[in-house]
Amino acid sequence: MDNVDIDKVIDLSSNQQDFLCWSCHQHLSQRAMFCNHCGCIQPVRDIDHFQRLGLEKKVDLDLQQLEKNHASLQRTFNAERFMIRSQQEKTYAAKHREAVQMAFDNLRDPVSRSRYWLMLNKAEAKENATQQNSAIISELHGMYEGASDTVALDRLAQRTGQEIEMGIIRLLSVLRTQDWNSANKVLSELDELETLITAVREKRQSLTPHAK
Ligand SMILES: [Zn+2]
Repeated sequence: MDNVDIDKVIDLSSNQQDFLCWSCHQHLSQRAMFCNHCGCIQPVRDIDHFQRLGLEKKVDLDLQQLEKNHASLQRTFNAERFMIRSQQEKTYAAKHREAVQMAFDNLRDPVSRSRYWLMLNKAEAKENATQQNSAIISELHGMYEGASDTVALDRLAQRTGQEIEMGIIRLLSVLRTQDWNSANKVLSELDELETLITAVREKRQSLTPHAK
């Protein structure tokens, strides 16, 4: 009987989401964090970040709900709750905390969330896609080359920061319409802007070595 069940699970695991509790061997869903028969914590399953945090799968997510679910899951898997549990359960709880934190960090940031969204939709840019710098990025690079004092660098950092903010708004808007090509283009522009703003800050730092 056991063998039959295990075969069935292996057979169906990819699409039927049928799993066995490691402790009592009862059937569980892939999303079950605890066994509803024996109460044991289950290993971290391969589910996406949205499922992990119990959120509706959409690119414009509800950030308040994200914070709330994250806090609640961290409480659920808090080490103190597993103090008198077995080593196996302590280990699983730690893995859950890690997975929940990773999902939260990814989804909270609109740029990494967008990149993840493209991956989920199998719409990532091809490796060899040629990217041409937009006019605005070329202009900012020009400003960077010419900036030789803190005032110019501060102005450039502010301008670059504004471009990043606008880029993120544009990114979410093209993702909503499933315009994957534009989304990949905006993402690569955002990468360029992030690299630039880091360079600007470093140059600024080098001009004021004693500033706190
Ligand atoms: Zn169980």
